[in-house]
Amino acid sequence: MDFENTIGLETHVQLKTATKMFCSCRLKTGCEPNVNVCPVCLGYPGALPVMNKEAVKLTCMSGMMLGCEINRHATFDRKNYFYPDMAKDYQISENGNPLCIGGGVEIETPGGRKFIRINHIHLEEDAAKINHYAQSSGVDFNRGGTPLMEIVSEPDMSSADEAIAYLTALKEMLVYAGVSDCNLEEGNMRSDVNISIRPVGSAKLGTKVEIKNMNSFKAIHAALEFEARRQRECMAHSIPIVQETRRWDAEAMETASMRSKENAHDYRYFPEPDLVPVELGEDLIESWRKLLPEKPEARRERMANEYGLTGYDAEVLAQAKERADYFEKAAAKAKKPKLLCNFFMSDVMSFFNENGFSAGTEEALAALFNLSTDGKINGPTLKELLPEVLRGEIADPEKAVAERGLGAVSDMAALEAFVEQAIAANPKSVADYKAGKKAAAGFFVGQVMKLSKGKADPKVVGPLVAKRLAAM
Ligand SMILES: [Zn+2]
Repeated sequence: MDFENTIGLETHVQLKTATKMFCSCRLKTGCEPNVNVCPVCLGYPGALPVMNKEAVKLTCMSGMMLGCEINRHATFDRKNYFYPDMAKDYQISENGNPLCIGGGVEIETPGGRKFIRINHIHLEEDAAKINHYAQSSGVDFNRGGTPLMEIVSEPDMSSADEAIAYLTALKEMLVYAGVSDCNLEEGNMRSDVNISIRPVGSAKLGTKVEIKNMNSFKAIHAALEFEARRQRECMAHSIPIVQETRRWDAEAMETASMRSKENAHDYRYFPEPDLVPVELGEDLIESWRKLLPEKPEARRERMANEYGLTGYDAEVLAQAKERADYFEKAAAKAKKPKLLCNFFMSDVMSFFNENGFSAGTEEALAALFNLSTDGKINGPTLKELLPEVLRGEIADPEKAVAERGLGAVSDMAALEAFVEQAIAANPKSVADYKAGKKAAAGFFVGQVMKLSKGKADPKVVGPLVAKRLAAM
């Protein structure tokens, strides 16, 4: 019997706010454990939560990017559970009335484009981090209370590849909106997955298994592939699949049972009595909508038209927002933006691939490129100075060119003198040329470049040499 997968994702995204969800403790990584804490995030009795408005705003902006409907009246609930990472013994979350409802993202699949629906996005506080040592474990509450947005997808994906495409699209949107860094390795984007299998064509969903503990897209992909295989083997041997939470073991490259899956009622959700509902007016929502950036998809299309790029090149260029912003700011200052685009796609991108993103300004890049399109420096000089501009070592390319005497020799009289000099010094090559060896012209261009100490523009010298030789 053939089976198909049904996959849904619950993606937790830490929001880029300055302070925690319900207190004013700052959010900073790399600190000593338990320095960014207070009675609220340590769960002291009587300490009252105060809502972080910025977190509400960033969640709503994420929802708008993802096409969700924004709930005008959202409420918080207590999700009760006992674990050392949550000192209050409950997590403040949104159960029945989340901030964002519906929406989704489009992904590319071998069978064409597919829309993956989002069920809802809710806002909650992150738990503390438990660190395990050789003989003991410790709880670090610096992370406790971080604003966390949970994006719950519908079970619309049918392969590990589709799940990764969905996460990639999600990450791109959220990074574009500036709501999170979405760095999986640093744990500010984490995804649990649900997977079940059912006979192809069956309307009834199979028993769902949740997998946790993946900290990279690669691990998520591997965990889904493993679990899809495991469940098929269970079916083949008539072993019932149990509803449970399994843990991904990255070393063994397999999932292992963690606990039987809890149901929502196990958490005894009830409305949070210490927080008033979030009431959002139209004006406020519209003011947030104005802050949204152009969506990646729209930007790709616009850039393809504006700079005459192929679809693939536009995708590469628009992919990382910071890089695309940098390019567009430079292009706005460039005299020939389309030419800059070609140069950016080749030389600048290859520099980034090898050395990381630019430390220089977009003004410096545009200024350097303008020197080249104005004929003030030649191609080799452009390439020579580029790394220094991108490393931020040259802020004013025009000044650097003047100081180092790299300006192109564009004085025609000087260039003609070089041509004469090259011809006079190489009678044999002139004879070769006259005998029909047209390649000898290239030799003269090389000679002129040498005489000008590399500062002539070969594009100007070429025709000059050709004209002189033809006249002989
Ligand atoms: Zn605190």
